[in-house]
Amino acid sequence: MTAAPRSLAVSPSALVVRWDDATATLPAATLRACCRCAPCQAARLRGQPAAEGSAVDLVDAQAVGHYALQLAFSDGHERGIYPWTFLRELGDLLPYETGV
Ligand SMILES: [Zn+2]
Repeated sequence: MTAAPRSLAVSPSALVVRWDDATATLPAATLRACCRCAPCQAARLRGQPAAEGSAVDLVDAQAVGHYALQLAFSDGHERGIYPWTFLRELGDLLPYETGV
């Protein structure tokens, strides 16, 4: 199980997650496209894009217990739960900012 990050910073364009050993900047559009809530997963299975491209902004992030983050987007979508493990995996797919 992935431990909670040291800190989080929410901006319209990205979520910055600081882990003990790395910092990941996760673009809002990427997070929106990777939403794992049931309707988004169903849409993806039907071959429909989950998000409307890069126009979506991140508007809020709330901790869910000690294991995840619930993100709200400017398109009104706010049901996506992002477990720390998932955020960590997502960050590993993107280039890291080191020495931050
Ligand atoms: Zn969703």
